[in-house]
Amino acid sequence: MEGEGLDKRVIDLRSDTVTKYSPGMKEAMIRAEVGDDVLGDDPTVLLFEKKMAELLGKEDALYVVSGTMANLLALISQTKPGDEVLLDRNSHIFNYEAAGSAVIGGLQLHPFDGTGGFLPVDELPSVVRPDNFHYPRTSLVCVENTHNRGGGMIYPFDMIKEVSGFAAEFNLKLHMDGARLANAVVVTGIPFIRWAELADSVNICFSKGLGAPVGSVLVSDAETIKRARDWRKRLGGGWRQAGLLAAACLYAIENNVERLGEDHTKAARIADTISADPRFALVYPVQTNIVIFEVIDVSIEIESFVSKLAQVGIRCLPFGGRRIRMVTHMDISFDDITYFEKTFSGI
Ligand SMILES: *Cc1c(COP(=O)(O)O)cnc(C)c1O
Repeated sequence: MEGEGLDKRVIDLRSDTVTKYSPGMKEAMIRAEVGDDVLGDDPTVLLFEKKMAELLGKEDALYVVSGTMANLLALISQTKPGDEVLLDRNSHIFNYEAAGSAVIGGLQLHPFDGTGGFLPVDELPSVVRPDNFHYPRTSLVCVENTHNRGGGMIYPFDMIKEVSGFAAEFNLKLHMDGARLANAVVVTGIPFIRWAELADSVNICFSKGLGAPVGSVLVSDAETIKRARDWRKRLGGGWRQAGLLAAACLYAIENNVERLGEDHTKAARIADTISADPRFALVYPVQTNIVIFEVIDVSIEIESFVSKLAQVGIRCLPFGGRRIRMVTHMDISFDDITYFEKTFSGI
C-alpha cells in the first residue's frame, strides 16, 4: 500500500489566506442576522462597519470583498484621474493589484526603491509636482504595514509619522494598506487607533491571519467612505446578505487578534531552522508571520526544491528570483512546526 504509515500531513505555508473558518466562526456565521446591504439594512454589516470605524477612530467604514478592492476604492475616492500616487516599488498596490488604479482611476503610480518596503522619506518632497499644467498632480501617498514583500516587517511607527508629516506639509492624502495591520498591533502593542491616526484611510484584510473566509474593511472620513461606497456599487461590489460574511469578520476581530502572536512564534521557529541551514539566508529579519529567504546554494533549482518540499507535505511559494516565501497562520499547529524543524534540512 503506497504511502501507508507515512506522515500525510500538509503544512500549507503558501499564504495566511488559506485558513479555513474555525468551528466558532462558522457558528457565528450561521447565527448571523442578515438583511440587504445594498439597501443599507444588513444589521451585521452595519455593526461590523461601526465597530471598525470606532476601533480605528475614523468617521465611517466600508466592508468590501477584498483588500485589492479596499485599496482601489481608497485610491480612487481620494484622487482625480491624472493624479499621481507615491508608493514603494515592492508594495502590493504596485505589484499585485492588476493596475486597477490606472485602469479604473486614471492614476499614475510613482514607485520608490525603499528599504524593506519603507519609503525614503527624505526623497519624497523633491518629487511632489509643482502646480503647473505640464505635470500630473501629486495627491496621495501609500504605506504598507506590515510589508508583504518586505518579509512581513512592521513599518516603524515613527517612520510612518514622518511620512504623515510630509503628507500634511504638502497637502497629500495618506493611505495605509494595513492588510496585516493586526500583526503589527500585536507585536508593537500600539493599538489600531494610533496607527490609523497617522493616515487618512486604512485597509485591513480579514481573510489573512485573522482567519475569515472573505473580506476587507476600508475606514476613513465620511465623505471618502461615501465616495468609496458609490464606487463599490459601480464596480459590481454591492452585496446583499453580506452579514453572513461580516459575522465571520466580527468574530475574527473579537477572537483572532491576540492569537496572531502564536503565528509569529511559529514563523520565528521556521526562520531559525532556515538560518541554521547554510544553503539558505533570510532576506529580512522575521518580525511577524512571513519568512522570505534566499536560496544561496547555486546547485539548488528553486522550482524543484519547492516541489520536493511539497512531497513531504510542506507547501510554500517561489517568490521571485532565488527567493521563497513561507507564511504561518492559525491552521498550522506547533506540532507541524516541530515536523518542519525535523524535516527541512533533509530536503
Ligand atoms: C493580501 C494583500 C492585499 C489584498 O489582497 P486581496 O487578496 O485582494 O484581499 C493588499 N495588500 C497587502 C499588503 C496584502 O498582503
